Amino acid sequence: MQIYNTLTRKKEEFVPLNPGKVSMYVCGITAYDYCHIGHARSAVVFDVLVRYLRYTGLDVTFVRNFTDVDDKIINRANREGSDWTTIAETYIGAFYEDMDRLGILRADIEPKATEHIPEMITLCETLIAKDHAYATPSGDVYFRVRSYDGYGRLSGRNIEDLVSGARIEPGEEKEDPLDFALWKGAKPGEPSWPSPWGPGRPGWHIECSAMSERYLPLPFDIHGGGQDLSFPHHENELAQTEAATGGKFVRYWVHNGFVQINSEKMSKSLNNFVTIRDILANYLPEVLRFFLISKHYRSPLDYTADALDESERALKRIYLTKAAAEAHVAGTTWTAAALPAEIIVESTALEAKWDEAMADDLNTAAALGHVFVLMKIVNRILEDKVLKKSEAGRDLIRHALKLFERWGEVLGIFLMPSAEFLTRLKESRVVRKQIDTALIAERLQERQEARKAKDFTRSDAIRDELLAMGVTLQDTAAGMQWDVE
Ligand SMILES: [Zn+2]
Repeated sequence: MQIYNTLTRKKEEFVPLNPGKVSMYVCGITAYDYCHIGHARSAVVFDVLVRYLRYTGLDVTFVRNFTDVDDKIINRANREGSDWTTIAETYIGAFYEDMDRLGILRADIEPKATEHIPEMITLCETLIAKDHAYATPSGDVYFRVRSYDGYGRLSGRNIEDLVSGARIEPGEEKEDPLDFALWKGAKPGEPSWPSPWGPGRPGWHIECSAMSERYLPLPFDIHGGGQDLSFPHHENELAQTEAATGGKFVRYWVHNGFVQINSEKMSKSLNNFVTIRDILANYLPEVLRFFLISKHYRSPLDYTADALDESERALKRIYLTKAAAEAHVAGTTWTAAALPAEIIVESTALEAKWDEAMADDLNTAAALGHVFVLMKIVNRILEDKVLKKSEAGRDLIRHALKLFERWGEVLGIFLMPSAEFLTRLKESRVVRKQIDTALIAERLQERQEARKAKDFTRSDAIRDELLAMGVTLQDTAAGMQWDVE
């Protein structure tokens, strides 16, 4: 597999340090609020990466942490007159609810910062002993950025540019504006732990250095996170760990791109944060997941209602095809008619193309393109009077169903029984479009009576009225069915 390494700025062949095994660490959430769509993207991207690596036969150890002590958590607790541990627990619980709905697999190890304070203190002591860090009279510990050669190389920043933007805030006892806090001396009303520098609590960056080293032998293979984490968080993790150990920290740095909202940056000041919960109040989780993998993971992704509707329609087409294919292969009489050569050639090439797309820096957008080609092949057979009766066509459709399943396991989509998905989709659209189902039942009854009375003008008028509400009608063997478009 080729994967883009942020550190070297190029796609590289991914070769795990220990053959057959992959060690991977992804920065988790700071538990102080509901997860937004940016969190969803990062979670889905790394979930697909883990699933894909396992699909290729690799044994992956996946660590994802929780930041459960931090300024944001403490501030929220103070604002709400709550306890910081309650805030952290509440939003860790909410994280699991959201991520379970999105089909995100649990990480193998999910450490919390507060459970690893001794490891962080040890790391600070090592850095102080090596003159890479210093304690201040008020009990803070800072990393001495200029003592570490190469600071800025991960995020592509140079020291001089950083200097111009750095300030020493009032009350900070830094030697240099570039230095960052590893440990913060206790302030009144804040949680603290005993340390050699007096009571205090960890800075944010130190926790990921301490927890990754605790659970993964260094250097580990993949360190992931959103692009926004590359500076300062990952830059600082890299500097701390390599300064402390003298060895390499991470082999491949992988970052997913931003999510924009209606072409604007998502930010508190624009008040355009979209939480996972907001979206799942209106759409099935699988629709959001499909949308999030519909673009390459490093590209910016623009969230709009239209884009989500588009993903919903695409996913519906796939499930409709799956449902038709499943019903078709249950048939019993078949002919010996042969498939046209181009169908055989195209479908045979598809598996290799799908694998190639995923091996090319996890190109899920291209992989989904191949899913659509497969769907077209299936529909072409189903719509052809001769081919749909042939044994060869049936066998190809059976194979296509296996591929939908195999690819679905990696992408984390198309895994629901087709009928169940289509029912849930209809229910979700009824709610979103505020469709009055009692009114529809009434109209359908009226329409049936009109047709009995051969009043086709009335019957057509009812159909048009329903169509204007987005409701379509299908005459089926089981009677009149309606659906929401
Ligand atoms: Zn981290």
